[in-house]
Amino acid sequence: MESYDVVVIGAGNGGLTASVTLAQKGLQVLLLERHNVPGGCATSFCRGRFEFEVALHQLSGVGTAENPGPLRMLLDQLGVLKELELVEMKDLFHVIGPGGFRVALKPDREQVVAALKEKFSGQEEGIELFFDLSYQYAYQMLSAFYFKDPEPSREKFPVLYRYAYKPAIEVLDELFSDPHLKAVLSSYWGFLGLPPTRLSFAYLAMLFFVYIEYKPFHLKGGSQALSNALLDRFLTQGGTARFSCGAERIRLSNGNVAGVVTETGEEIAARYVVSNASPVTTYTGLLGPENAPESVLREMHGRSLSPSAFVLYIGCDCEPRELGITGSMNFLAAHTDISDKNLLDMQRLELGDQFLAVSCYDVADPDFSPRGTCQLNAVTLKYGEPWLRVPPGEYHQVKFRVAESMLVRLESAFPGLRGHIEEIEAATPLTHMRYQGHPNGAVYGFEQYTKDSMFFQPGRKSPIPGLAFASGWTGDCGFQPTLEAGAAAARTIIREIDGK
Ligand SMILES: Cc1cc2nc3c(=O)[nH]c(=O)nc-3n(C[C@H](O)[C@H](O)[C@H](O)COP(=O)(O)OP(=O)(O)OC[C@H]3O[C@@H](n4cnc5c(N)ncnc54)[C@H](O)[C@@H]3O)c2cc1C
Repeated sequence: MESYDVVVIGAGNGGLTASVTLAQKGLQVLLLERHNVPGGCATSFCRGRFEFEVALHQLSGVGTAENPGPLRMLLDQLGVLKELELVEMKDLFHVIGPGGFRVALKPDREQVVAALKEKFSGQEEGIELFFDLSYQYAYQMLSAFYFKDPEPSREKFPVLYRYAYKPAIEVLDELFSDPHLKAVLSSYWGFLGLPPTRLSFAYLAMLFFVYIEYKPFHLKGGSQALSNALLDRFLTQGGTARFSCGAERIRLSNGNVAGVVTETGEEIAARYVVSNASPVTTYTGLLGPENAPESVLREMHGRSLSPSAFVLYIGCDCEPRELGITGSMNFLAAHTDISDKNLLDMQRLELGDQFLAVSCYDVADPDFSPRGTCQLNAVTLKYGEPWLRVPPGEYHQVKFRVAESMLVRLESAFPGLRGHIEEIEAATPLTHMRYQGHPNGAVYGFEQYTKDSMFFQPGRKSPIPGLAFASGWTGDCGFQPTLEAGAAAARTIIREIDGK
């Protein structure tokens, strides 16, 4: 039987950074991935002359060489920074709202505040307060948790203690009366999966802080370039990777991890397993519920799955400007309602007037698509459940109907789009489910309700000795958090091996 120190299941962000971190330490690591390419969500696919980015809209936490963010530092530690060409996006986001409303925000605090004040007269004081509060929250959060203050207290961190559990909508209602402004300031909820009624203000504050202070970035070659660089680094450090080779089972011996069995029935011995698959799949599928600790199953029952997504990938035979696209990141809002209506809309099959996030990478990087062309990635969040109920014989019809209604919305924001489409592909929650293997195609792991937020997450180590998790399911979701999660999971194993 082949034997390794660690088997990593899944080559998504978390699996890749875990693998590199462990291999750099000199451990014998086997990486198993069901798909035939690395990356999980961090990947691309080709249609015609376009290579479509699957998931990345804005990379957070990068920063510049002079003001490096945590992700830049991590990529450096992993030995891949010099292999990557990071492209700074020059805008935070554009909002295209109802009745011809438009606002463009730059990733600079003063400029954001000035642009909002100009657009929303009478709300100036609230705008200043909102960003003061977001920044104070972020600084206190970083001091308390990132820099691990030994004695955090309400007196030391009053904003953190007061706002950590407050729904975003309460803060917005306290500060503003203008519904357009509240909708603009809550736009990033689309990156977090919960509307402002349910989302903790903490997440909104942190996203504004990281994207303004460390700037939003993209990558030359898309997120696939990052996944490829991490895989190359892993291989040059002596790691072994197998693609189109899923793990079928995690083997236990006397309650401890003993190895894995692959989909082809091969048994592999290992003292440690890092799972980049969801804990739902890991405990109920790979381990089998009979081996899952009762406390873990109970804890998972209390959580709910995040939405999945409906995505249109569109390749156009023209430059973005010809379509009136001037922002890399565009939020299309058909209304200013930030109530639970958004939650209900995500539970429906049809698109309706749902919020859209539309990226056009060619605005920041004219070479992203072939010269004279551009690509759009238009996403709306949708729960997987209604899609699972669509009879197989009707699936394509439903998919094309939703795609068509999304095109109508896009065409009204970017007139003439339809006439320039050269390639188009749609992904539904079932597509995400198929490629990531996550229950209901959930793209943000478990829902990030306040009770499931960063303060209450179960952690990367399983109660089963030898098993650790590296994904957005046991921490926050998104590129930066999952890349960090993999490295952190690997460090817990390294500490254990080193007896620390
Ligand atoms: C459409 C979309 C848009 C997004 N936009 C953004 C964005 O703009 N910014 C941002 O920060 N985040 C964004 N995200 C979220 C981000 O992409 C994810 O949070 C992150 O990539 C998840 O990484 P992960 O490590 O959890 O692994 P995943 O990407 O979920 O990958 C898990 C991997 O494990 C493999 N696997 C599962 N089971 C097995 C098994 N049994 N054996 C072997 N392999 C297995 C899968 O095949 C997969 O490759 C987006 C996601 C989607 C889908």
